[in-house]
Amino acid sequence: MSEKAIGVAVLGLGNVGTEVVRIIEESAADLEARIGAPLELRGVGVRRVAKDRGVPVGMLTDDIEALVSRDDVDIVVELMGPVEPARKAIMAALEQGKSVVTANKALMAQSTGELAQAAEKARVDLYFEAAVAGAIPVIRPLTQSLAGDTVLRVAGIVNGTTNYILSAMNDTGASYEDALADASALGYAEADPTADVEGYDAAAKAAILASIAFHTRVTADDVYREGITKVSAADFESAKALGCNIKLLAICERLTSGKGKQRVSARVYPALVPLDHPLASVNGAFNAVVVEAEAAGRLMFYGQGAGGAPTASAVMGDLVMAARNRVQGGRGPRESKYAKLPIASIGAIPTRYYVNMNVKDQPGVLSAVAAEFSRHEVSIAEVRQQGMTDNEGEPCGAQIVVVTHQATDAALSETVEALAELDVVQNINSVLRMEGATA
Ligand code: NAP
Repeated sequence: MSEKAIGVAVLGLGNVGTEVVRIIEESAADLEARIGAPLELRGVGVRRVAKDRGVPVGMLTDDIEALVSRDDVDIVVELMGPVEPARKAIMAALEQGKSVVTANKALMAQSTGELAQAAEKARVDLYFEAAVAGAIPVIRPLTQSLAGDTVLRVAGIVNGTTNYILSAMNDTGASYEDALADASALGYAEADPTADVEGYDAAAKAAILASIAFHTRVTADDVYREGITKVSAADFESAKALGCNIKLLAICERLTSGKGKQRVSARVYPALVPLDHPLASVNGAFNAVVVEAEAAGRLMFYGQGAGGAPTASAVMGDLVMAARNRVQGGRGPRESKYAKLPIASIGAIPTRYYVNMNVKDQPGVLSAVAAEFSRHEVSIAEVRQQGMTDNEGEPCGAQIVVVTHQATDAALSETVEALAELDVVQNINSVLRMEGATA
């Protein structure tokens, strides 16, 4: 057993960093036994050194560059976010031969190539389990447990804030605005919720998952993205009537053409999820990821996708792995991008649609609507029609909900554009995709 201590620098002492430092200190004996050498904290990088936070002041520094460069630091744990200054600090660490553990999804989704190359050149580890779905182990199962299988699809709820909002809308009938205000008051949504509600956070995670699952470099820019801001209480009513819930999904898929050519799709959007689908009952701030692999079949990972302690659990797993590799002289799996599959555009993706529209109450409306679907070769699976009344209780048209069979996204969006032009259609209230049903 090696006696030489492994030196660790933690950058960031916020929600996650505080828990990581606590575990390093409180579990020192267990960690030493698991690693084969003691893990010693050399310093903690913060912005405000003077702020009292229960860590000896001598341990804190705002000179990140100097901390990362210390000779007695073997592993750098980056928990500062956002992209900068984290990227610069990680690059400096890797270039100086230090292994890196990070929870920074935005950075990993944007700069994987640069960071992976630097790790490769220095022959050190770059681990980022905590960047996707907090405590839930999903990166390691994909890179290691399923390394001999062929992953076909990864679909998940990977953003707790939006899942909290959508769950509240489903449970209480609240509007999007009220559910968001409630989430903000309870601390589930940030002061600026854009990254969550517009799907940017989920898109970063989708890029990371797709890259690993399909051995292809996928960045956040390659991910098709729609947020949840247009989902309405009426959509939830219709979803319930159709036996569905509505979830913000991150979907990564291997598409194989008739001629056997493969492409990768990565996309984030709110979708109707049938209640018997495993993701339909993932509620509140919880996350879940369903992986479908050729030999393994369907696997589901479920748990806390955020929070200081749960995220620290994933960070610590990476830290122990990186430390063990230092002690034993090996390295963990490096970036695998050999497949270099092309990215499919959203228009080529086969999907099902739910279209909710207001129409005039007159003969021939249904057949005019159905004709547009047929003209674009989109087959209708289900139609529901409900009469509407105005404030005086007088009939004023009807609401039609159409659920389609599978067609390409392009054909479906052209159909919706054509419907909007019809004289009998007063308004297209909403258009959502439908997950989990391949009919
Ligand atoms: P946080 O609470 O905002 O803490 C950030 C920490 O980084 C603070 O201690 C801050 O110092 C320090 N910091 C920020 N900019 C710095 C700079 N320029 N120089 C030196 N120190 C700097 O963040 P967090 O919630 O712990 O998240 C950390 C990382 O984990 C982020 O990448 C985040 O995306 C990721 N992550 C978080 C969660 C979660 O649930 N929180 C889940 C998954 C992943 P001061 O304390 O002096 O301000």
